[in-house]
Amino acid sequence: MLYPPEMPVDYHIHTRLCGHATGEMWEYVEEAVQKGFREVGFSDHFPFIERVAPRLAMSWEQLSLYIAEVDRLTSKYSKIITIRKGIEVDYEPHLEEQIREALQRYDFDYVYGSVHNIGDWQFDSPREQHRWEHCDVRKTYEEYFHLVQQAAASGLFDIIAHLDVVKKFGYRPSGDYFALIQETLDAIEEAGVAIELNTSGLRKPVGEIYPDLRTIEECIRRGIPVTFGSDAHRPQEVGQDIAHYAQKLKGLGLTEVAVFANRKRTLVEI
Ligand code: ZN
Ligand code: FE
Ligand code: FE
Ligand code: ZN
Repeated sequence: MLYPPEMPVDYHIHTRLCGHATGEMWEYVEEAVQKGFREVGFSDHFPFIERVAPRLAMSWEQLSLYIAEVDRLTSKYSKIITIRKGIEVDYEPHLEEQIREALQRYDFDYVYGSVHNIGDWQFDSPREQHRWEHCDVRKTYEEYFHLVQQAAASGLFDIIAHLDVVKKFGYRPSGDYFALIQETLDAIEEAGVAIELNTSGLRKPVGEIYPDLRTIEECIRRGIPVTFGSDAHRPQEVGQDIAHYAQKLKGLGLTEVAVFANRKRTLVEI
């Protein structure tokens, strides 16, 4: 199958079941259809293993509703658009085995691994942004990227979500940190996982995509598979800026986009 080059896929779509997104699931699908997508995937926040967090992730009951609704929409829209059943899982090293067991109970098409926490700090939460003012920014970046490396190596995930989301509020270490990125791409390449071009950073204080173009160029050079996600938390955010960046990446030499079914990756020409 060939996708229009200007419109590959949007694999990172949330739903109101996670407690911090709005709109009905069919509205996200309608938006994708209207914008010309042939394939999209839901990837809402998987329940937290150790705690209940109604504003951050689905509960186990909501996860069942989520799956039922993704399945229903997949059949309903099958002639118009392909809908994949993904999930976004928070990675914490001490929970690897529990995450593995929990994921075995479901038949997702793909699993995103995300790092949103360093220890007890949800560093990308506006409510915890103040902690950036008191931390060692370089050390925080190191801790963050080391967690991403562990996530990649864990074998739990198909795609690393928003690879450099640590920059969300615009705090950056003085000097270059590309060595840290390279080391992280080594782990990703070694593990054989994909990355996403996530456009939601454009809507955040940092005002740029995750990861930045320099990192994506390096992924293209290394042959690390790339997919696309808007991280939509509102229906109108579906697909946002993906067309623009897909064209841009094509210009930088990207020839294929990674797509998933039953946790098997294939590459589709763009
Ligand atoms: Zn979210
Ligand atoms: Fe995330
Ligand atoms: Fe997300
Ligand atoms: Zn996300």
